[in-house]
Amino acid sequence: MVRVRFAPSPTGYLHIGNARTALFNYLFAKKNNGRFILRIEDTDIERSKKEYEDSIMEDLKWLGLTWDEGPDIGGPFGPYRQMERLHLYIDFANKLLSNGLAYRCWCTKEEIEKRLSESKQQKAGYDNYCRNITKAEIAKLQAEGRKPVMRFRVPEKQIVVNDIIRGTVIFESGTLNDFVIMKSNEIPTFHFAVVIDDLSMQITHVIRGEDHLSNTPKHILIFEAFGYTVPHFAHMSMTLGKDRTRLSKRHGATSIRQYRENGYLAEAMFNYLALLGWSSKDNQEIFTRDELIKQFSLEGCNKSNAIFDAAKLLWMNSQYIKMKNSKEIFNLSLPFLEKAGYSEEQLKNKREIIEKVIEIEKDKLKTLLDIPERTNYFITENLIWDSEIAKEYKKPETEQILFEVKNLLEFVEPFEKSKIEESIRNYCQEKNLKTGDVFHPLRFALTGQKKGAGLFELIELLGKSLTLKRIENFLTGNRP
Ligand code: GLU
Repeated sequence: MVRVRFAPSPTGYLHIGNARTALFNYLFAKKNNGRFILRIEDTDIERSKKEYEDSIMEDLKWLGLTWDEGPDIGGPFGPYRQMERLHLYIDFANKLLSNGLAYRCWCTKEEIEKRLSESKQQKAGYDNYCRNITKAEIAKLQAEGRKPVMRFRVPEKQIVVNDIIRGTVIFESGTLNDFVIMKSNEIPTFHFAVVIDDLSMQITHVIRGEDHLSNTPKHILIFEAFGYTVPHFAHMSMTLGKDRTRLSKRHGATSIRQYRENGYLAEAMFNYLALLGWSSKDNQEIFTRDELIKQFSLEGCNKSNAIFDAAKLLWMNSQYIKMKNSKEIFNLSLPFLEKAGYSEEQLKNKREIIEKVIEIEKDKLKTLLDIPERTNYFITENLIWDSEIAKEYKKPETEQILFEVKNLLEFVEPFEKSKIEESIRNYCQEKNLKTGDVFHPLRFALTGQKKGAGLFELIELLGKSLTLKRIENFLTGNRP
């Protein structure tokens, strides 16, 4: 059975690149009827934070990347956390120690650096000094109260990584020194914890970023030291910004949380992430979740780096908004409307109207954040007109037009789009006015905006009394 894992370190919010790693693992698991496991790699105790762990899990759930097993916490599974599994690493490390495949090392950083700078070999990192240390020396170091680390005895050999995406990559172990597997505080290093977890969780495929490829020889050596079959590896290309440097804050929003807060839909994000480094044979772009599960393959992943294109993601988001009905969009936009300051009561009362506005505005919506902005003039009691723009329309002739239109609208019955349009157009004709001279100030007075949904449609939606009141308020300067 295929078993894969997503193993984030809770040292920051879920980044686009990491979310893609999670997604590829998820798709691969689902496609193969396998299991997707979440493992929190929190052994870096200084940088790991509960806040980040919570946020990563929240974002994974939002994306629909739920994991299939984990500790029973009475409800959905909890994640595996490395700091809750310390006994396991200690047991495994002791096994290596007892059969001579690992040893304790008492050297301080300064001692190692000094020896390395004096030696001609210049082997980076460590000179394997404690491999051959005498019992007497050990006793002396222990008497000094030093706490040892544990190092893996790296054998001389060639290490071959058969990577599903990158092909065969060969490493010479001679380039590695005896690396630390357990720190002096009995916390495992990243390399050791990863392997012990992967082997004890029976992970069959390790799918992760290419930045871990150089760690893989170390991991393979540890698997072999325990006599375990090495899992399959698939190192995915990195995600870069448009300038081909590693995706970072400089490129704008890079965390899933930011996109969520900026009104992106989970389905759009899911779809877009899948295309970061993977493509179908016919270059299809919009996929349902099930289509992605069906079509995804590690072999279809590109070796070259993926370029994150925020404009494309925005486009994709607008496509997903278009596919939803206005009820669904209203529900999704509720948190954004609440954040914009509307009360539950207001939203309840205006729900029907907002849904209608969403319907007529749908093709123009790019994110859910557009909704408070586009519907604000229907919900708010006191519309605020931008004073700079208002100046344009504060000319006597424009005010006269608005005054006359207001009087005219008062008698439109029934107050429907076609009737409203007819009477305003007739007015333009009678007075020999360009439609723009009437439509533009009217729209601004009613909505506080220069663009938006069809004018007559929105007047109908506003209703007669609100329409008249708005024009009145605009004219009397009854505004902040
Ligand atoms: N914790 C590692 C990271 O966040 C992942 C290690 C792995 O996938 O093997 O980069």
